[in-house]
Amino acid sequence: MKFKLACGDAVPGCSARFEEDSRELILAQVVVHAREAHGVAEVGPDMLAAIGANIHPA
Ligand SMILES: [Zn+2]
Repeated sequence: MKFKLACGDAVPGCSARFEEDSRELILAQVVVHAREAHGVAEVGPDMLAAIGANIHPA
C-alpha cells in the first residue's frame, strides 16, 4: 500500500507532495523537507501528529 501526503494540507502554499510505501517513510521525508523548505530545525510531537493526520492511503 502506498501513502500520500500533500505538504500544502498542513502548510498553505507549499506544493511539495510525498508518496511512499509506509507512513514512516513519509515522515522521514517530511522531517528533511520541513528543515530544508520551511526552516523547521526540529519537528516536534505536535507537528508530527498534525502531519500524520494528513497522510492518506494512495
Ligand atoms: Zn512544505
